[in-house]
Amino acid sequence: MQSYRARALVVRTYDFSEADRVVVLLTSRGVVRAVAKGVRRSKSRFGSRVQPFVLLDVHLYPGRNLDTITAADTVEFFGAGIIESYEHYTAASAVMEAAENLSLYEGELFDLTVAALRRMQHSPYPTAVLDAFLLKAMEIAGWAPSLFDCAHCGAPGPHEAFHPAAGGALCENCHLSGCATPPTEGLRLMWWLANDAWDAVDAASSSSEFTDLLSTAHQLTKAHLQWHLERKVKALNFVDSGWSQ
Ligand SMILES: [Zn+2]
Repeated sequence: MQSYRARALVVRTYDFSEADRVVVLLTSRGVVRAVAKGVRRSKSRFGSRVQPFVLLDVHLYPGRNLDTITAADTVEFFGAGIIESYEHYTAASAVMEAAENLSLYEGELFDLTVAALRRMQHSPYPTAVLDAFLLKAMEIAGWAPSLFDCAHCGAPGPHEAFHPAAGGALCENCHLSGCATPPTEGLRLMWWLANDAWDAVDAASSSSEFTDLLSTAHQLTKAHLQWHLERKVKALNFVDSGWSQ
């Protein structure tokens, strides 16, 4: 077996045996679980670099269950601006967790994750950066919400109803019971986030409703993600049980 190199972000780590650590990495090839040997000893060559919010260039040796990290170099550190702010830290951690759960869509998702962490460092709206990441990730996955046209009949918006199960915005005719009824500005903000229209977001930030709109965008984005992720996970469980019979 040949060793390989990859760009990687640390999702999380846990202690393993006396001095080792298991590291869950998000790479452009997907999620990789690897052992970093001896990193808990103070003389470890690269222990201090194998941390969350560091873009690493890692050398990995493939193993049956776990790969082994043989070298790790820092490419970029995203911690500044993230680790000293609870709101930024929480939003950045949610980006990493979602990226791990969505890792079926590998290369593009990895680039999107790196870009989100980079923007997160300097953004006054960390939750909006998270939502922008989630909306774009759902686009890659193929189940992004419709934010302007009616998700059911295609009638052009803006509309004032939203339902994750229906695929997003709904017109008056397709309105379902249990719809959220956000202001149209809320769906417009989500559209800006999904399309990296940060100048429009900045321009809207002086309005008195901006905080409420950010909260609306976050609730709807989360509801849409959760509904589709749960369905996907259930579908995978079903496939697994089918195989084991
Ligand atoms: Zn409709």
